[in-house]
Amino acid sequence: MLTDSFSVNSKGHLTLGGADTVELAKEYGTPLYVFDENDIRNNCRNFKNAFDKYYGGNARVYYASKAFSCKEMYRLVNSEGICADVVSGGELYTALSAGLPAEKIGFHGNNKTPDELSFALDSKVGRIIVDNMTELEVLNEIAKEKGVKQNINFRIKPGIDCHTHDYIKTGQIDCKFGFALENGEALEAVKAAAQMENLNLVGIHCHIGSQIFETEPFVDAADIMVSFAKNISEQFGVNITEINFGGGYGIKYTNADKPVSKDESIKILCQAVKASCEKYNFALPTICIEPGRSIVGASSLTLYTVGSVKEIKNIRSYVAVDGGMSDNPRYALYNAEYDAVVANKADKAKDFVCTIAGKCCESGDLIQENISIQQVEKGDILAVLATGAYNYSMASNYNRIPRPAAVMVNDGASRVIINRETYEDLIKKDV
Ligand SMILES: *Cc1c(COP(=O)(O)O)cnc(C)c1O
Repeated sequence: MLTDSFSVNSKGHLTLGGADTVELAKEYGTPLYVFDENDIRNNCRNFKNAFDKYYGGNARVYYASKAFSCKEMYRLVNSEGICADVVSGGELYTALSAGLPAEKIGFHGNNKTPDELSFALDSKVGRIIVDNMTELEVLNEIAKEKGVKQNINFRIKPGIDCHTHDYIKTGQIDCKFGFALENGEALEAVKAAAQMENLNLVGIHCHIGSQIFETEPFVDAADIMVSFAKNISEQFGVNITEINFGGGYGIKYTNADKPVSKDESIKILCQAVKASCEKYNFALPTICIEPGRSIVGASSLTLYTVGSVKEIKNIRSYVAVDGGMSDNPRYALYNAEYDAVVANKADKAKDFVCTIAGKCCESGDLIQENISIQQVEKGDILAVLATGAYNYSMASNYNRIPRPAAVMVNDGASRVIINRETYEDLIKKDV
């Protein structure tokens, strides 16, 4: 089992958060996203508690809501006392609609439109993370027009890249996000910001990658970021009081993945920041992080109904499900790995190697290739595990397939948090 949320009951059915997934499929239909509320809450608490333990609580955890954005998620993280970051006007609108206080919102993005910036200022979001020089100037202009002073952070490219499994320390200048350090771009921007009357540069930000299993990149990031903060306080008198290290904490998609515990990750980050502050004689900043996947990704699944099994002798067997890249484009996009279980046969051996195919009109519409699952037939319920992050949020209406419903389970009880789209929804904007 990937996490403690998963189990198999006496009927041999897969359960998540104490709920029988076969029953969930029956009650709500398929495809269906299912999330374990207790695990999401524990993930929030584990990050927060670790900062209390290792940093006196001088920290803010922002849920990176692009991983899974819907009103209930913002309510949930708000009730856990954590913040959220958004990357578009749409996410901002959703967060505000759910009652998340604007001051707890960080607004990201490499090309926020003037309308989005204006919306963010009018909403009084806590932080805008400025990506580039043009945005800095535009934001200052809009803030001036509105007569407000906005707290901002700068997105920095620290020259560390862990998007691949090999951890690369240089060459990350070729990235669409943020200000580079090595060519002086970041310094120039700080110099400019220091002169701007309607912006207040209070923090610096970096995000070094996703699905990271190592801790050294964060130690290196701490050193680079604290050193830069010290440098700009000396050169420009800019007082950096918070450093944001972004997200990227890895989760278990398959048993091959070995994530570091939240406690351990935060302990190492806090130690590194303290050590760097001592080294550069810099006052301890508020530490911010932005976990997305590691809040919502691991203890979740997507349920499908198997429509057919197509055996191509000596080649492969395709198991066709009633969803696909329309609800989970991640394998088609970048060969993301997943584990899968036949939910109504979860106590049986996984002795059938197959390719799970969606129902979209694309040969590349696959959920996983050459995966071992239980012997499967038409009508079985197939669970693809750990689909909570970047599945619903990346879903589309390709082939005019309605987006699935999402359900939250809690100690065996379940409730809908996103309704299934209807055919009527699909034509709503058509004229
Ligand atoms: C995507 C992203 C995150 C979240 O990343 P995870 O891998 O889901 O934790 C956090 N911050 C920024 C700026 C991001 O772009």
